[in-house]
Amino acid sequence: MALSGVEIFKHLPKTNCKKCGHPTCLAFAMKLAAKQATLDACPDASEEAKAFLGAASEPPIKGITIGAGDKALKVGEETVLFRHEKKFVNPCGFALLIKDTDADVEAKAKAVADSEIERVGQRLRVELIAVENASGDAGKFADAVKKAVSAAPNAGVILKSSNKAALEAALPALSGRKPLIDGATADNADEMVALAKASGASLVVRALGLDALLALTEKITAGGFKDIVLDSGARKPKDMIEQYTQIRRASLKKGFKPLGFPIISFAVNSNPFVEQAQAAVAIAKYASIVVLSDISSWKTLGLIALRQNLYTDPQVPMQVSQNVYKVGDAKENAPLLVTTNFSLTYFIVLGEVENSKVPSWLAVMETEGLSVLTAWAAGKFTAAKIAQYIQESGVESKISHKELIIPGYVAVLSGALEDKLPGWKITVGPREANALPAFLKNKTAAA
Ligand code: SF4
Repeated sequence: MALSGVEIFKHLPKTNCKKCGHPTCLAFAMKLAAKQATLDACPDASEEAKAFLGAASEPPIKGITIGAGDKALKVGEETVLFRHEKKFVNPCGFALLIKDTDADVEAKAKAVADSEIERVGQRLRVELIAVENASGDAGKFADAVKKAVSAAPNAGVILKSSNKAALEAALPALSGRKPLIDGATADNADEMVALAKASGASLVVRALGLDALLALTEKITAGGFKDIVLDSGARKPKDMIEQYTQIRRASLKKGFKPLGFPIISFAVNSNPFVEQAQAAVAIAKYASIVVLSDISSWKTLGLIALRQNLYTDPQVPMQVSQNVYKVGDAKENAPLLVTTNFSLTYFIVLGEVENSKVPSWLAVMETEGLSVLTAWAAGKFTAAKIAQYIQESGVESKISHKELIIPGYVAVLSGALEDKLPGWKITVGPREANALPAFLKNKTAAA
């Protein structure tokens, strides 16, 4: 359960020595309560305080890392039920399910390796491979894992088998890679925990329904093993929402430790549309790993965008720096466009200008990360401010003309802008960015 700043303060040294970087112990306690600081910043904290506050300040949902190095995936550590309360912390990971009976193990793993795309300035990808021991044969399983790892060396690996011999055969290929073993059930929990401990892996704990899952996690954590990912057996959206929400609520609102672990969700379905819909449900409520049978781009692009949108901090507008950006080999006669510095606006406009193949100058104006219409409504993208920005940006030294293309949504500003920028021609561009390629091509053809 979350502690208040005053409760935390009672356990601090109360010397106000400032070594933690805060003016008083109370100020530091408030930061600890808000989870904006950690106790190790206070070098004088007593062992009693560390034990008490350490347990209390542990994230209600444990963080689990799969994979190694800078491509490792960390999931869990969420602190809120709803994104707008604060933010979602560690984006869920996507895993492609590959069976050791598949003829194209390497090709599927390669698709994972090649899945990275750029969206709104971020590199996004499918992070995990889940290799399933569908054959029941230990040698085949180990062979498939080796092939998958070799084709996708940066992917984290989930070993989907409850066969001890098959796991023992596959694990040596994953030394130092922190795999996730899937998994432990009531029947094999002891030997799976032993295997996970010995190999440095984390472990999926699976039981049908929350009561059975709870009994199993209590048993496993009582033995000291806590690198756990939960599978409640939910495979339909209704069950996913119901069970995952109960798990999240119990861990966050009740501080219920036996369910304070990330969730793995199997969205896999023979109908690709159902699979995508189930995956979307799992991303939103509240899976930390979503397993898919197919990562064709028509399917994953939407899921990747959904995940990115949900895991963006809602209190921090995504923005790019104010600047006049050169697109392509823009020369002095290239068109000049102006827009706002909301990241999504910038990247969409930039993408469409690039699609046009017309080298251009893109003047991106600081509007505190607001989109065009919002910035205009908020008085941050007005004729006076745009004119001041253009005059102070230095763009006039880069171009040989005085024509500024403004977004169609603020066509109303064109007259006032011509007044504020004497000698300039203001051209109203399209309202939607996807009309920019045709607009720019027509413009250069007419020039
Ligand atoms: S370092 Fe510790 S004792 Fe010193 S002000 Fe910070 S919390 Fe108080």
